[in-house]
Amino acid sequence: MGEREVRTRFAPSPTGYMHIGNLRTALYTYLIAKHEDGKFILRIEDTDQERYVEGAVDVIYRTLKMTGLNHDEGPDVGGPVGPYIQSERKGTYLGYAKQLVEKGEAYYVFSDKPDVVAEISEKEKKPYKYNAQYHSMTKEEIEEKLVSGISYVIRQKNPSEGVTVFEDEIYGTIKVDNLELEDMILIKSDGLPTYNFANVVDDHLMEITHIVRGNEYLSSAPKYNRLYSAFGWPVPTYVHCPPIMKDAHNKLSKRNGDASFEDLLAKGYLKEAVVNFIALLGWSSGTDQEIFTLEELIEKFDYRHINKSPAIFDDVKLKWMNGEYIKKLPLEDFHKRALSYYEQVFSKETMEKIDLLKISELLQTRVEVLNEIPEKITFFESVPEYDISLYIHKRMKTNPENSLPTLERVLPVLEKLEDWSLDSIHNTIFDLIKEMEVKNGVVLWPIRTVLSGEKSTPGGAFELAEILGKEESLRRIRVGIEKLKNEI
Ligand code: GLU
Repeated sequence: MGEREVRTRFAPSPTGYMHIGNLRTALYTYLIAKHEDGKFILRIEDTDQERYVEGAVDVIYRTLKMTGLNHDEGPDVGGPVGPYIQSERKGTYLGYAKQLVEKGEAYYVFSDKPDVVAEISEKEKKPYKYNAQYHSMTKEEIEEKLVSGISYVIRQKNPSEGVTVFEDEIYGTIKVDNLELEDMILIKSDGLPTYNFANVVDDHLMEITHIVRGNEYLSSAPKYNRLYSAFGWPVPTYVHCPPIMKDAHNKLSKRNGDASFEDLLAKGYLKEAVVNFIALLGWSSGTDQEIFTLEELIEKFDYRHINKSPAIFDDVKLKWMNGEYIKKLPLEDFHKRALSYYEQVFSKETMEKIDLLKISELLQTRVEVLNEIPEKITFFESVPEYDISLYIHKRMKTNPENSLPTLERVLPVLEKLEDWSLDSIHNTIFDLIKEMEVKNGVVLWPIRTVLSGEKSTPGGAFELAEILGKEESLRRIRVGIEKLKNEI
């Protein structure tokens, strides 16, 4: 037999948002398959109907589509080993559990006898363990109970002595004392499989070669391993990923108010930037490169380089990365995205009067996240209340007292200016600076301040004047002169 084709699966439970850890699992799962020209499969694990959230499956489809993590097989696209939704595979699992009973690797626990083991293990907070005294029955006894319809569960039979050893690609060789291994339920009293059992059976039937999941599943892996060997099935390669932390002590979690993928998009992060950032939560290429397209990730991704120490979700880095992606957008594209933010801030008149594309040109290199746009542009709509100490700039040697006469000289010069273009405003003001024999900042700082009322703005005095237009710029300078006169 030749090498098996690499087949990986993303197996989300539809329980709500796509949080960052889920998306990272999906991404790594996808990358492992595509790096090897293998198949990436989507399987919906909805056996736990109590945790089912309406609409959650749509979030999964939408997210995979948006991020370009296209699956080769799945509920919506079909494939040779379907169905790909566990609730549609209900009939599959009981037969496999019965095979294990036959092999002596699982056993029935009937409801007509008090389950003393369950009571003891619950009280003592110990794993449920097989106890021959209560549960060893002859074939005939079992048959009789089944025929008379007494409800039952089927449990895995794990030994109490010895150790179970398994290999994880990231965490290495792990040994677990068998005494710790609970005889977990495989089939519930309603005849349906538990999540743990369905997961193993489906991974085998779907010929999954690499299993990628969060390290919270690491402690279940030995029980899964025992199932594989009880069936005599090949054990897949386990890739357990490190936790994602928001700081040294706390895990990132939606429950703690941390952002989901959709929240990040709503805040104005670009999906490509988020995917790139997530790829680096626990993995590095071994070089200084940090910006990767999905194609580059496919080429470079080697799961053996996933780190086992916890990954920190660094907001500052995510913002920086997003800023880099924003800078790379074609201007038109950035402009289209920025427009909805302009609409939030600007009146209809402003939207029509101002050359919005010019604002986009200024913003594109100065914004890291799109939701920073409103605060950076409100002054175009109207000058905010400000304190005249804003005119103080030590290095430029400006203050309210010297800004007033400067603006009084600027006003008539600009009033006379007919060609209100960037170059012409620039040249006119520079002529004035020369004439006044002062440093540039002495004139430019007061103009920028009077036009915006802000400490910092996207663009300097000339750009702001050009965008605001002659009439509005002159009006703002006049108002500013009055304010200085009144408040000095
Ligand atoms: N359904 C599980 C989850 O959503 C996936 C576990 C696995 O990948 O094996 O967490």
